Amino acid sequence: MIPVTKTFLPPQEEYQAVLSRAWEAGWITNRGVLVKELEEKLSSYLQVPNILATTNGTLPLQIAIKALGLKGEIITTPFSYVATTSSIVWEGCKPVFVDIHPEYLTIDETKIEAAITEETSAILATHVFGNPCNVEAIEKLAKNYNLKVIYDAAHCFGAKYKGKSIFEYGDVSTCSFHATKIFHTGEGGALFASDDTVFQKLFYHHNFGHKGQEDFHGLGINAKMSELQAAMGLSVLPYIDQIIENRKKQVNFYNQNLDCFEIKKLKIREGSNWNYSYYPVIFKTEKMLLDIKFNLENLGVFPRRYFYPCLNSLNYLEECEMEVADKISKNILCLPLFEGLHENVLDQICDTIKKNVTIYNI
Ligand SMILES: *Cc1c(COP(=O)(O)O)cnc(C)c1O
Repeated sequence: MIPVTKTFLPPQEEYQAVLSRAWEAGWITNRGVLVKELEEKLSSYLQVPNILATTNGTLPLQIAIKALGLKGEIITTPFSYVATTSSIVWEGCKPVFVDIHPEYLTIDETKIEAAITEETSAILATHVFGNPCNVEAIEKLAKNYNLKVIYDAAHCFGAKYKGKSIFEYGDVSTCSFHATKIFHTGEGGALFASDDTVFQKLFYHHNFGHKGQEDFHGLGINAKMSELQAAMGLSVLPYIDQIIENRKKQVNFYNQNLDCFEIKKLKIREGSNWNYSYYPVIFKTEKMLLDIKFNLENLGVFPRRYFYPCLNSLNYLEECEMEVADKISKNILCLPLFEGLHENVLDQICDTIKKNVTIYNI
């Protein structure tokens, strides 16, 4: 079976060697040596000054909303994983959807202004599939209307924009280190903020608000990463360049072999260094997608419909139409992309897709 993604597992003895340090210390959580070492190594690898490792990639979104003191309406994208929207609702705010750009698939910055009201406190946008939002336009709007900006950068490990880590943009950026992401700690994630005061707040919030053992800075929750998670991160990190490089080869293979006008591909924003985190293809119709998905499944290949359904159709929200996102969401399919996926399988996948596309042309 060929899934859409497969978790990269480092050699077990390497994981165990790192893990044994936690055994020696007799310390498996509460910011032990491994979490601190992982943060240092990531800070250097990603070239970001402030990084806080967390237990997953969803709590960081909730903590960011809390730390920035957001209330009322938060402008967001309907085309993302559910955590982007659910975090807004969980924190007692109202998501206000703005449609996406048809090629970049990120929030359409030209439509944001019309959605701003007296109640708007922030923009929470996703760098979809590691493709940056128009961060300059968003920053300008945020300045003009005194709004905060949070980026759900769950897909963005290693991605850069204009020479800077994508995590450096916005008031707060978040990442996920879930097992399905390119860099992972099993479950895990991170918080980023360039402003030291904001970063300090995030830090307190992620550890119950503790300020020393017997004092509290304020309200908090538990989002700490454990040593067991950090050990996985430290064992995966030495392989990350290789992982990204191999995905790049696979992406190039897809690009060359799926070069037909019926299939639209993700347009990467100019000025960015992409991380090859996903390979989405957009078909002309949903029927075409379903037929191709069915045929691939018959071959034992299981692509995924990311992101479907659109978040504006969630049953705990008022329904609203998003012309572009609704359509893209129905017609987009993410193809398998992972370390160790062989070229002959890629070839088979491309052949199946092309054959089906040709049938539609007759
Ligand atoms: C994976 C993901 C998350 C959630 O991360 P977890 O680590 O699974 O909590 C949030 N947003 C997006 C866009 C994601 O893809």
